Amino acid sequence: MDAAIPFNKPALMGQEMAYIQEALGGQLHISGDGQYTKKCHTYLEQHLPGVHKALLTTSCTHALEMAALLLDIQPGDEVIIPAFTFVSTINAFVLRGARPVFADVRPDTLNLDETKLEALITPRTRAVVPVHYAGVACEMATIMDIARRHGVAVVEDNAHGLFAKYHGQYLGTFGVLATQSFHETKNFTCGEGGALLVNTATYAERAEIIREKGTNRSRFFRGQVDKYTWVDVGSSYLPSDMLAAFLYAQLEQRDTIQALRAAVWHGYHERLADWAEEHHVQLPTVPAGVEQAYHMYYLLLPSLAVRTKMIAHLKAQGIQSVFHYLPLHLSDMGRQYGGAAGDCPVTESASDRLLRLPFYNTLAAADIDRVAAALHSFTDWH
Ligand SMILES: *Cc1c(COP(=O)(O)O)cnc(C)c1O
Repeated sequence: MDAAIPFNKPALMGQEMAYIQEALGGQLHISGDGQYTKKCHTYLEQHLPGVHKALLTTSCTHALEMAALLLDIQPGDEVIIPAFTFVSTINAFVLRGARPVFADVRPDTLNLDETKLEALITPRTRAVVPVHYAGVACEMATIMDIARRHGVAVVEDNAHGLFAKYHGQYLGTFGVLATQSFHETKNFTCGEGGALLVNTATYAERAEIIREKGTNRSRFFRGQVDKYTWVDVGSSYLPSDMLAAFLYAQLEQRDTIQALRAAVWHGYHERLADWAEEHHVQLPTVPAGVEQAYHMYYLLLPSLAVRTKMIAHLKAQGIQSVFHYLPLHLSDMGRQYGGAAGDCPVTESASDRLLRLPFYNTLAAADIDRVAAALHSFTDWH
């Protein structure tokens, strides 16, 4: 049998090892905020016009926790999130005592359904956290307009969408805050890592303080104060400069990485178009005016039963495919907050039927052929 095709495979894109070696050499600065962390900050600030300050974090989860601290989320505050997302999108706010309010998603993009947003806003709503699923933008014009009219903060969970755009504007630059992930499954990685994008001067200094254990250490290093001390709440959210060195080597290969991933995405899309139509399989939708990030390729199969059989069928041919997410409102935690079956029907349906295909920078055209052929050879559509 041919070699197995994994679902994900992180790839070295060039200078990762050389930069780590360089971080280790020289002045031996391998804790946080060394030269490579600064290079990553500058890269993100320069390549994402509208970002006031970019701060590397140990994960997207931690960047979301920082966002909840910066917004001063209090017990009883409500935070609106799509029911179809990863737990971290809301856990960060629940840690501060927030009550999650689950919004259903659009059937085409699986993004927060902007037409259902306004009805979920109450006097207690403090934030809405849209997720650009698969790196395809949410309907940001509507979401920003509703949030503005109600005085609700927007925090973009942009874990999937780095360098994607909505009507010419980069994702991650709409919300007052936005978060990125550099986990191994994301387009750009350092194993585990993330970033907080601060899009207003208002939060810039406090973000540095929260990230540095509640101290004004960053001001101290800039010579703005002559000693550093405890000034606010905070934690340790900064990654080692060795990880930043790895990440910088990936970021500077942005064009190569995105071109490779675009080829994988279009490779699937072309090979599967007719097949999908014949078998009532929904392929990803990219609305007009949206430039996607090529984060993943997924299928929406006709039923849970077909998906279960399809996973086994692909596995038998050495191809790993995966599903996600389980609807958050139906999780153990979600139910504690009143979530019940039927609350978010589009999420519940998508969650049963979605299948992610192998997707990584180095996935060869021959492997895409193999995955497509395996899908075409499936016959058990009942
Ligand atoms: C991956 C992911 C996260 C969490 O990222 P970490 O860096 O692993 O903490 C959060 N939200 C979404 C939508 C994700 O896909």
